[in-house]
Amino acid sequence: MTPLEKLIRAIIESEGPISVSRYMALCLGHPVHGYYMTREPLGATGDFVTAPEVSQIFGELLGLWCAEVWRMMGTPSPVCLVELGPGRGTLIADLLRAARVAPEFHAALELHLVETSPPLAARQRAALASAGSSAQWHRSVDTLPERPSITIANEFVDALPVDQFVRSDDGWHERKVGIRNDRLAFALDPAPLRAIDAMVPQPLRAHRGVVFERRDLTPIIGLAARIPARGGVALVIDYGHTRSAFGDTLQAVRAHRVADPLQSPGEADLTAHVDFEQLAAAAMKAGVDTVGPITQGKFLRALGIELRAERLKHGKDTSTVRMIDEAVARLAGRAPGMGELFKVLALAHPALPILPGFDS
Ligand code: SAH
Repeated sequence: MTPLEKLIRAIIESEGPISVSRYMALCLGHPVHGYYMTREPLGATGDFVTAPEVSQIFGELLGLWCAEVWRMMGTPSPVCLVELGPGRGTLIADLLRAARVAPEFHAALELHLVETSPPLAARQRAALASAGSSAQWHRSVDTLPERPSITIANEFVDALPVDQFVRSDDGWHERKVGIRNDRLAFALDPAPLRAIDAMVPQPLRAHRGVVFERRDLTPIIGLAARIPARGGVALVIDYGHTRSAFGDTLQAVRAHRVADPLQSPGEADLTAHVDFEQLAAAAMKAGVDTVGPITQGKFLRALGIELRAERLKHGKDTSTVRMIDEAVARLAGRAPGMGELFKVLALAHPALPILPGFDS
């Protein structure tokens, strides 16, 4: 039994079954035993690989995107470049390198990273130091400066906790984590919750047994709420669905394999698909325009991923050329993969023109 499982069992024994969001928050963010607090989850030797870890092209294209958006914003100086959940710092380092082609933008940048994990923050500091840059770190979006900003959030929202509700004959019941036969197990709260009906999108017919997920979007709402007064844009990239749908998407991944979410809490990554309809609705309520979502493949192709790959391949040996081709197919290909599964949604100040990547 992991130390975190012992702790979770003690909570359940004294307080009763806990919500899925509380379970997820403990697994990922417990200050001592949480998954992100204790290890470096990313990369070939970790549990999963993200787009910036697949290829430098991903961060570079986002760097050019940011420079263009800054021009559309009227070249504010200073401008905050914010990243939520920067992982190993790979994306920000690639982005800054590419942004050097726009020296005025590069000079106007003030870097702010929002990160809760001490080992990952240390990794980010090292990645930035070798790129010749520095940043300010924040544990939440609440302490970000009140300035025009450009924010990137890649695979950040999927780690924000979700609650789950299951439809029964007498209404919706919250799905909770309890103990059965001396093991952690899902159980339905016996009291029906009628208020959930108002949150379920109208066109969805709720049959018995379907699962509805609701995410705590506080960090994104907090970020969106600053945009109308301060100016700027946030780009959210993640895997998930364009329209709200039913389904249990809570998923654990360990050593690149799908695992049982209740097994070894704190030692596996725990995520749930992003419901982009829910996300866009919450952001619009905060006063921003939403652009997209479109697939990551469409977005990266519009930003010129193929051309950038051709340049990178120039003069390289055949195995490097093959690696670049494979990375492009993985990031932006039409076959099932990141290109189709991942979506890109922009939250933008209403006065901004159509953003690059969303114009085709
Ligand atoms: N964006 C990176 C890493 C994605 S992993 C990449 O694309 O490679 C998720 C990241 O979000 C990690 O850095 C994790 O520590 C951070 N994170 C998770 N929940 C968070 C929260 N509530 N607040 C701030 N950072 C969080």
